[in-house]
Amino acid sequence: MREILVAGNWKMNGSNAANMELVAGIVAGVPEGEGFSLLVCPPYPYLSAVVAEAEGSAVKVGAQSVSEHESGAYTGEVAPAMLKDIGCEYVIVGHSERRALYGESSFQVAAKFQAAQVAGLTPILCVGETLEEREDGATERVVDFQLNAVFDAAGIGSFENAVIAYEPVWAIGTGMTATPEQAQEVHKHIRSQLAARDANIAEQVQILYGGSMKGENAAGLLAMPDIDGGLIGGASLKANDFLAIAAAAAQV
Ligand code: PEP
Repeated sequence: MREILVAGNWKMNGSNAANMELVAGIVAGVPEGEGFSLLVCPPYPYLSAVVAEAEGSAVKVGAQSVSEHESGAYTGEVAPAMLKDIGCEYVIVGHSERRALYGESSFQVAAKFQAAQVAGLTPILCVGETLEEREDGATERVVDFQLNAVFDAAGIGSFENAVIAYEPVWAIGTGMTATPEQAQEVHKHIRSQLAARDANIAEQVQILYGGSMKGENAAGLLAMPDIDGGLIGGASLKANDFLAIAAAAAQV
């Protein structure tokens, strides 16, 4: 049985005071129950303090991006080993904002995925199509291309320690959530791509849904057989909103 992972991507939001209050509120409100875990991904400057605040709680900490390089002359970048060093367990790679705004290719994303694993982090690999691609019937082709870059670079075995997030770009930050059926269809397809390479690994990989998930729609999405959690942007910025999704996860 796969655990549910409820992951918050705080993006470039908050301040020292606000983010400490946010993590403290989440730590204080973790719902009772088993079979789920919580993760928060604050901006880099707050990672260490959030790790310290979350220590000993059920809340894990991850970063929102990482360099594909180990160390050296890469001004402004953060190495995977640095994230591990300060207590991060996860890192998001290939978020659609990184792909669209910073030109990260699927090949660069695959390199980040690999580098994260080498440092002992669990990468959360984001894949997903734009509205135009969906309307062109290209959803599976786009997702396959993004996945194949990682299969080719890192191999199917690397998914023993990885999470996938299906995030339709048209649903991110727009309030337009994919229906549970729309999301399930793509999640099932993603799992079939994994299964074609290794059936056991396919069964164990957590595939999260991301795109305007909130307390009101979480239960319906999480009830789908191939949806193993959420990657949440907007609704991760208030402890009560995030905890409402956690509560839905605790009841699956
Ligand atoms: C995201 O950015 O990963 C995301 C899913 O954002 P939102 O929940 O705001 O749509």
